[in-house]
Amino acid sequence: MKYLSILATAALALSSSVQGVHAADEAKPNTPPEPAKRELTPEEAKEDAELAKKYPKLPPRTAPKLLNLPHTTEPRIDIEEHLAWPKEIGDAVIALWHGNATGALAFTSDDNHWASDITRWTQFAEKYPEIGMAHCVNTNESMREGDKENWRKLLALGHEIQSHGHRHWGKGNFEGVTEADGRREYAAPVEIIEEVTGKKPRILAYGSGSGMADIAADYYIAARSTYGVPNDAATISYMGIASNTNLFLNPTAFINTLLDRETKVFGKNYYGGLTSAHFHGLPKGDWEALFEEHIVPPMKEGKLWVTTLTNVAMYGQSRDTAKLKVTKNTAKEIAFTLTDDMDDDYFDHPLTIKVRVPADWKTVTAKQNGKEVKAKLVENEGKKFALVEAIPDRGETTLTP
Ligand SMILES: [Zn+2]
Repeated sequence: MKYLSILATAALALSSSVQGVHAADEAKPNTPPEPAKRELTPEEAKEDAELAKKYPKLPPRTAPKLLNLPHTTEPRIDIEEHLAWPKEIGDAVIALWHGNATGALAFTSDDNHWASDITRWTQFAEKYPEIGMAHCVNTNESMREGDKENWRKLLALGHEIQSHGHRHWGKGNFEGVTEADGRREYAAPVEIIEEVTGKKPRILAYGSGSGMADIAADYYIAARSTYGVPNDAATISYMGIASNTNLFLNPTAFINTLLDRETKVFGKNYYGGLTSAHFHGLPKGDWEALFEEHIVPPMKEGKLWVTTLTNVAMYGQSRDTAKLKVTKNTAKEIAFTLTDDMDDDYFDHPLTIKVRVPADWKTVTAKQNGKEVKAKLVENEGKKFALVEAIPDRGETTLTP
């Protein structure tokens, strides 16, 4: 029986991952596997037809309802434009990352939802409430990550429950997999997680680091691979985000390469980019000292945005497709509109908009569609700017002193 042999392979993959040996860090960036070629027996074909009915193909999406952006090697944005300050009073620029940070560090955790981990994640949540954590879970009942009580405990910490696939399928599990079976792997967690948490998962961590990206793209805004290098901000492969499990082996390089133009990781500099780090349980040993030494200082200075991969995927794709237009520019009021190509049901993270304001503004109040949003004044080289948090497609934003 095809499904049984696939389950056996999935179980093997799981047992290696629970020992913390996620085998795919040396893998190439995510590539979809070949579709199934083998002929199904009549019994299998019947089963497959049932699955195809339950998890049908979905119609393609178009702007402004995109769920994710296609893979590209051409830059989608010019990062220098987003890092620059607006020139004239009334000019506005979308910041490269939230809070006008230069680089982003995004976290996910896989395969670690049993009691001992909950204790350690509780300590993490108490110590770093502003960071959060996206816990990626398998939803098949027979897998221990599918323990919904533990999901509820993680949710209560303010953490996210995201998808790790239904049965931890990944590299090595795909042979003979039909499209319907692949759809179940990614669609079932959406239903099951939403049932428990009240929220659809938005991101996927591929089991064992690679998966069927074309199918996953129908259900998630982003998916995480395990290829262990940072990501260029202009060409993030949102359905195959490179990520590493070894952040604490060399935090200096993985962080500094985002924040200066010299530091290289495997021969390449990632200024303005994204480092995705994932864990299987919090690392053993003195990770906390390394965290305090390498991550907290640039985070506190506002240079490094440290958050969940979900937030980064929302921000990045809204930014990459955004249109920002100043609609009013007077001494006492500046207004702008902000739109993007992404589906508003999934993309509700604000973008940080940098606006140069008149030098005599002592305070700033910002309202989007009449509702107050976060804004603050900052100075750069003697000029005054507002940093405003506006959500794309939610109406005009006005700034007043
Ligand atoms: Zn895993």
